[in-house]
Amino acid sequence: MTNRAFKAEDTCVTVDGRSIGNGHFGIIAGPCSVESRSQIVDVAKAIELSGANFLRGGAFKPRTSPYDFQGLRSEGLALLRAAKKATGLPIVTEVMAVKTLEDHADDIDIIQIGARNMQNFDLLKAAGQLRKPVLLKRGMSATIEEFLMAAEYILSEGNDQVILCERGIRTFEKYTRNTLDLSAIPVIKRYSHLPIIIDPSHATGDSRYVESMALAAVAAGADGLMIEVHNNPETALSDGKQSLTPVQFNAVMEKVTQLAKIM
Ligand code: PEP
Ligand code: MN
Repeated sequence: MTNRAFKAEDTCVTVDGRSIGNGHFGIIAGPCSVESRSQIVDVAKAIELSGANFLRGGAFKPRTSPYDFQGLRSEGLALLRAAKKATGLPIVTEVMAVKTLEDHADDIDIIQIGARNMQNFDLLKAAGQLRKPVLLKRGMSATIEEFLMAAEYILSEGNDQVILCERGIRTFEKYTRNTLDLSAIPVIKRYSHLPIIIDPSHATGDSRYVESMALAAVAAGADGLMIEVHNNPETALSDGKQSLTPVQFNAVMEKVTQLAKIM
């Protein structure tokens, strides 16, 4: 059960000795898409030096247009493994289909289920049958109740290693890509023992706003952050506008670490 009434202690999700939740603040970072070996290995090394705990990169991409870059798929997973080998960082990557989960779950440390699949109930049930962590992103028009019920699908199959991720919801506002619902942090903490992290990159859609929303998330009690970082955002095959350079990410990490210490 996701509900706090059934579990007093906060859930802590741990992979290779790195934890998120129950007092452990986790940083997941990396490019929107895995593009090449040197790209992912270089980003992984940079974010590791800045203090990130997990490497995230998309291999199977849920793009709005079918004509946009769809990801390197299984080749992308192999490149993520190479980056893990080079840095030791566990891998977070999105899976969009049950078949992909069946074929590749063993190669992934944390299975990401994206906003567009938050209510793909077959995928949620299949992830629930695994015994490995799942990062579940809030649907762009999902209420918190629907978000928690989506997580319940995973837990109800016996997998209680779930990390929730608020990534902004769709509102009438156009100056940001989505509207970051920071209040989801205390609300989810009231109702659930599951860790809740914030993705300021997809929430704002603009690298200029990532630092302020990352710091706000720490202040609001988030259990971690997921931030997009690209070696050269201008040439990124997806989400370059919202991606930080490794230097910018390092600067954000310094402030985040300081603030997290006093929280
Ligand atoms: C992503 O994290 O790469 C992504 C596509 O985000 P979301 O599912 O939140 O849109
Ligand atoms: Mn992205």
